[in-house]
Amino acid sequence: MRTDLTFTIIKPSAIRKNFTGPIIEMFNRNGFKIVAMKMVHLSPDKARILYEVHKERPFFNDLLAYMTEDRIIVAALQKENAVADFRELIGKTDPNEAAFGTIRKMFAESHKINAVHGSDSNENAEREIGLFFSEDEIFLKN
Ligand code: GDP
Ligand code: MG
Repeated sequence: MRTDLTFTIIKPSAIRKNFTGPIIEMFNRNGFKIVAMKMVHLSPDKARILYEVHKERPFFNDLLAYMTEDRIIVAALQKENAVADFRELIGKTDPNEAAFGTIRKMFAESHKINAVHGSDSNENAEREIGLFFSEDEIFLKN
């Protein structure tokens, strides 16, 4: 299992507010290389697969509605220790609890509308990247 890849989504609200550029700059400034990226509209079926771990949670339908309401940007990012370092860079789920200098502190609106997604394990990073990118769309270094 690779430990140098993670998967991110720039969520609909952040794109509408023109935060895409500043968020990508944060990725790069913190040592993450973009090895795959595209703008897509997430279908309800794919959203259900992406978030299937949350299917019993009370906010599941709300989350699906939010993530499918408008376009998203999906990307694979490469860096040593990518998953943990990226979770640190984005900060806690709720921007009120996120540390200063984190992406969610700077760009999120609320616990739900929180600007970006970041994988929570190497297994999920691989699974999530595989949902959106074929091998020939990923430009790994080494
Ligand atoms: P993450 O890993 O930090 O993104 O957080 P989770 O895996 O716990 O939740 C997935 C996503 O569901 C979050 O990023 C939010 O967009 C959304 N979410 C989490 N908790 C809530 C909640 O209590 N209410 C609503 N409406 N959305 C939530
Ligand atoms: Mg999560």
